[in-house]
Amino acid sequence: MNLVEKIEAAGVVGCGGAGFPTHRKLSGSFEYLIANGAECEPLLRHDRWLMRNKASEIVQAMDAIGAELNIPNLVVALKDHYHAEAEAIEAAAAKLGSKVRVHRMESFYPAGDEQTMVAVVDNVATLFAVYEALQGIPFTKKYLTVTGEVNTPSVLHVPVGTPLLKCIELAGGAKIADYMVVTGGPMMGKPMSAEELQTATVTKTTGGILVLPADGYHAKASQLNVKRMLNRAKSACIQCTSCSQLCPRHMLGHPLQPHMIMRKMAMGGDPKEMLDDPIIRSAALCCECGICEVYACPMGLNPRKINSLIKQDLREAGIRYERQQTSWKANPEREVRKAPTDKVAARAGVYRYNKLECSNFVEYDPQADR
Ligand code: SF4
Ligand code: SF4
Repeated sequence: MNLVEKIEAAGVVGCGGAGFPTHRKLSGSFEYLIANGAECEPLLRHDRWLMRNKASEIVQAMDAIGAELNIPNLVVALKDHYHAEAEAIEAAAAKLGSKVRVHRMESFYPAGDEQTMVAVVDNVATLFAVYEALQGIPFTKKYLTVTGEVNTPSVLHVPVGTPLLKCIELAGGAKIADYMVVTGGPMMGKPMSAEELQTATVTKTTGGILVLPADGYHAKASQLNVKRMLNRAKSACIQCTSCSQLCPRHMLGHPLQPHMIMRKMAMGGDPKEMLDDPIIRSAALCCECGICEVYACPMGLNPRKINSLIKQDLREAGIRYERQQTSWKANPEREVRKAPTDKVAARAGVYRYNKLECSNFVEYDPQADR
């Protein structure tokens, strides 16, 4: 088996969230292989743990992919305050005589957006899974962060299929009785009902388990139904354009302007009836980062959720977005409009958890637990 076949046989999928099969990304000719170590969302810490503790494995996986696909530039992109992580990667690369180098990025959200990084990107956890695949180890365990209102915020390594409630227990248990759970990060993660939580388990794409107060920002946001969301878009959008001015995809030059979509919502009725409109179709370009609704909108409206709804309608109607252009020019003001991660965390009501260390690590073996 060649490298790509080994990765496929091990069942490696992207650990950054989308879960795209990794072997399908690895065909063609590339100038750069970028390991995404920017740990895009606030609060999540497992990628940083991996870079500190599995740097050699990540570098070896990058070297192997680079050699197989003849990729000249191998780069680990991380935030500029990740000093220990950068040192670990650089030390591992020096020891292995690798050409992997570190690129330091500013701490803004969403720094890990593939479009922001402009290259073939694999998350560092995916690259660790690639390393294991090359040793013949199938991808059956996940690194993830459990944080928020838990007694010992932790990075866990658990088998796929482990109950989320078990993961919370491994992080010392919940500190408060009345809590809700978000799987993923605080910006793009999915709120879970108390009922769902009883049976939910870790999947290959679970990256974080956030235990949050049941009366906080996320709980309120999750209670908003579609009808109310559309009514609020109609009645309260003041067309200030703040959502578009701060939208990272718009800043990169994509023809996506959430305030225009909101204007259509205010004028029209059901998004399903407007799928021919190019402005409505531009929702397909939205990466659902949440900047527009969590950070930008002064009225507390939901352009991201409306885009998500339209994307679902477009998918169901079998409509694929057709790009009108092949290159984009970034807005010259992009640098000053980037959203600092701490401010984003504060707006999402999770600032205090973003300061938690998550230095505890748990390797969970269900057999030993019996
Ligand atoms: S969620 Fe909002 S800010 Fe983010 S890409 Fe979509 S429209 Fe832009
Ligand atoms: S930021 Fe809010 S109020 Fe302003 S245009 Fe966007 S959705 Fe409307």
